Formats: sequence, structure tokens, C-alpha cells
Amino acid sequence: MKNREFMEYLERKELEKGVEALEKKALEDKLMEMPELEDADPEKVNKYTRASKYDGKAIYCPKCNTLNRVYHFTWSAITCGGCKGMVDKTDWNLTK
Ligand SMILES: [Zn+2]
Repeated sequence: MKNREFMEYLERKELEKGVEALEKKALEDKLMEMPELEDADPEKVNKYTRASKYDGKAIYCPKCNTLNRVYHFTWSAITCGGCKGMVDKTDWNLTK
């Protein structure tokens, strides 16, 4: 008798664990579906930013907001076509 009770107790525990896992999964799925929050700050170029070889990538000068188009990011700073200022790679703004 005692043994059976213990087995039932274990089964119940297993069930609870299963439910917990399901709820956690559902919560994770929900989080994945949530759209990314738009932040007010423009996104900056970082070391993971890549440009299309054919279309390039539009980046905006942080000083004068002029659109510059680059076809690769193998540079650490470039001159803005608008203000002719030298701008570091990670200072350039990306379009959303
Ligand atoms: Zn500029």
C-alpha cells in the first residue's frame, strides 16, 4: 500500500513537471512572437553589419544625416559625402 502511494505521488510529480515544462514552452513561444520594441535611438553600425555587394547599404551620417551608401564594411572610418567629415564606423546610423 505504501509503495503504491509513493508511486502515485511520483506520478503526480512527473505530471506537474510536465505541465510546468509546457507552460514554460508556451511562455517562450509567446516571447518569440513579440515584436521587437522600437527604440528611439537609431541603430548603429556594428561589427556584425553587412552590406549587400549589389545594393550596398544605406547609412546615415551622425553629424549631418546625409545618406551614404557603402558596399562593404572593411573600413574603420570613412568620409561623409555630405559634411566631408571623417566618421568612425560605429558612429554611422543604420536605417530601420
Ligand atoms: Zn555628414
